[in-house]
Amino acid sequence: MVLEKGERPGGSMLLSSGVVWRYRTLDEFRRQCPEGDPRLQRAIIESLDDALGWLDSLGAQVLRRETRNPRTFGWRFDPRGLTDTLVRAAGAVQTGRALRTHLEMPLEEPLILATGGFPVRLAREGGLAIRSNPWSEGDGLDLAVTAGAATTAGMDEFYGRAMPAPPARWGEAEFVDHAQVYGRFATVLDEQGARIPHDSDDWSENGLVEEIARRGGRAWYVVDRHDLGRETPYGTVAQAIERVRRSGGTVEDRNGALAVDVIAAVTHTIGGLAIDERARVIDRNGVPIDGLYAAGVDAGGWSPGGYASGLAAALVFGLAAAEDAAR
Ligand SMILES: Cc1cc2nc3c(=O)[nH]c(=O)nc-3n(C[C@H](O)[C@H](O)[C@H](O)COP(=O)(O)OP(=O)(O)OC[C@H]3O[C@@H](n4cnc5c(N)ncnc54)[C@H](O)[C@@H]3O)c2cc1C
Repeated sequence: MVLEKGERPGGSMLLSSGVVWRYRTLDEFRRQCPEGDPRLQRAIIESLDDALGWLDSLGAQVLRRETRNPRTFGWRFDPRGLTDTLVRAAGAVQTGRALRTHLEMPLEEPLILATGGFPVRLAREGGLAIRSNPWSEGDGLDLAVTAGAATTAGMDEFYGRAMPAPPARWGEAEFVDHAQVYGRFATVLDEQGARIPHDSDDWSENGLVEEIARRGGRAWYVVDRHDLGRETPYGTVAQAIERVRRSGGTVEDRNGALAVDVIAAVTHTIGGLAIDERARVIDRNGVPIDGLYAAGVDAGGWSPGGYASGLAAALVFGLAAAEDAAR
């Protein structure tokens, strides 16, 4: 039985770019996400390729069998096709039905939490924008913690993007292409005008977005006109800035450079429930809680200190949980 709180299945996956990926090696995963649990990282490295094959066998539409990023391996799926395929395979998904607010322990039947972490709560508390489905408010986390679950490192970390700041208006349809991913070519200033440094190793620019959040959530990306032709993941810098203008955001001319007003937006949370490689939720004494599992970004521990694929964690730990529960 699949309960879905929202009005449609698919969660943030449906809104995503659909790239299910892993770092090429465990060493690289460790380097990129140094606070993470090596056992969980190893599980993703070792299990993802077979899990991708499983999605393929269900008939999910694969758009590309590579990521175009030398650090990573993965496949890009059409998110709508992937959602439809999984809903078909699941049988019935009951929409508009949230998991009940209290767990009767011990559980009568296995329960897999996959409520998408708490991006909505984290964004609201931090005065940040929301770039996720609107229903992931930490329900799975609260349920499991009340039942004795432990949480991981990184409870204040998130994966997110710099998006056009208000008065810009954008919604789910703009989540992907309105992201401003050219911090590496810009001088980034906080609201007090202090420079926010950008680590050259921060290839995803997630570290930069988290730093903007720590400094209040808003920043200016100041770009020299010579850099407007540079490529971002979503066209050139000039095209990205044009989308800010079209959505009603602020772009100022500063001595010939363009200054773009951005806000940090939360896509998924990084800390979450402690799990083991079989996706069993671990209690505060380090013991698995009988019958309780967590997958995707309800589970923490696989990417603290960095950034990794939420879709991969959903796929690998969702399958691990299902296999263990079925056993
Ligand atoms: C614009 C965008 C682009 C992205 N691109 C990528 C990408 O290319 N690659 C990548 O790896 N990741 C990407 N992501 C992140 C990725 O979508 C998430 O990490 C992933 O969807 C997490 O999976 P999940 O199953 O944990 O959560 P979700 O996919 O968010 O699903 C959680 C579901 O639980 C439901 N729910 C919440 N509370 C309850 C409750 N109490 N009872 C029942 N149901 C509940 C929610 O409604 C939701 O449907 C992107 C995200 C966005 C928004």
